[in-house]
Amino acid sequence: MGKLDGKVALVSGSGRGIGRAIALKLASEGAKIVVNDLDEAPALETIAAIENSGGQAVACNGDVTVPDFGERFVRAAVDAFDGLDIIVNNAGYTWDSVIQKMTDEQFQAILDVHLMAPFRILRAASEFIRVTAKQEIEEGRAVYRKVVNISSISGLYGNAGQINYAAAKSSLIGVTKTMAKEWGRYNVNVNCVAFGFIATRMTEAIGDAGKTIEIAGRDLPVGIRPENIEAITKTIPLGRAGTPQEAADGVYLFCTPESNYISGQVLVVGGGL
Ligand code: NAP
Repeated sequence: MGKLDGKVALVSGSGRGIGRAIALKLASEGAKIVVNDLDEAPALETIAAIENSGGQAVACNGDVTVPDFGERFVRAAVDAFDGLDIIVNNAGYTWDSVIQKMTDEQFQAILDVHLMAPFRILRAASEFIRVTAKQEIEEGRAVYRKVVNISSISGLYGNAGQINYAAAKSSLIGVTKTMAKEWGRYNVNVNCVAFGFIATRMTEAIGDAGKTIEIAGRDLPVGIRPENIEAITKTIPLGRAGTPQEAADGVYLFCTPESNYISGQVLVVGGGL
């Protein structure tokens, strides 16, 4: 018996990194997962890992910033698994610069992926959630649904070089608190997990060559200078970066029945940062 048996979860950006660890964790507790990634190959790897452990998953790939993506994502859950119980807004990337070098395109692209896309996914889910919850309540059943929005300590405290990312991630906290108020009547717990420093592609050490990744048709620099990694790590009370699995465990807490009376909260998963 898993804690999430019979639940259906959307996890955006779950082809790799923290999103993938979230998909695997929720699936290990019995949830059926709609996996999303920009590319097919990483999504198929996540699905294979879930299926090899006896779970169920389908893919809904593509860029979360495409205007009709939210509708497609929600439809994928309802068509494949006839339900929708958990939404994790995780997909994203960083595109850093100090303010004098930050272009409008750069600022907007990061707002689009970390703020606009979660808003559209939640709006797309609202019809299913309202109609289904009203029916459950009329039948005298309280079924709790879960939204977990992924933020960052950059959104809570700011971070030099990340005015776009910090703006998007702090706005996502406003989205979380507002939706907790709008959807309380439908028994939806809406919470936020703000990560500190988690070891993924986003935070790996860059070599001299300066690695880039292609996201939404753009080649973007990825990673952090080794000396900065050392400096950040020194500020973490637990003395190390978190693993994607530890990050996923924080998200999982907000998906369990034990969190049914917790809503509108921000949990920092940052090793004490
Ligand atoms: P990651 O390893 O780079 O993984 C990001 C995932 O999101 C990838 O699967 C990527 O797809 C997907 N993605 C990116 N843009 C997308 C888009 N437009 N549409 C659909 N999928 C998209 O990064 P991560 O560290 O796991 O980050 C996950 C979340 O945690 C992000 O929201 C990030 O801001 C947040 N976060 C991370 C840290 C950290 O220390 N790592 C700290 C604070 C917050 P592809 O595989 O196709 O590129």
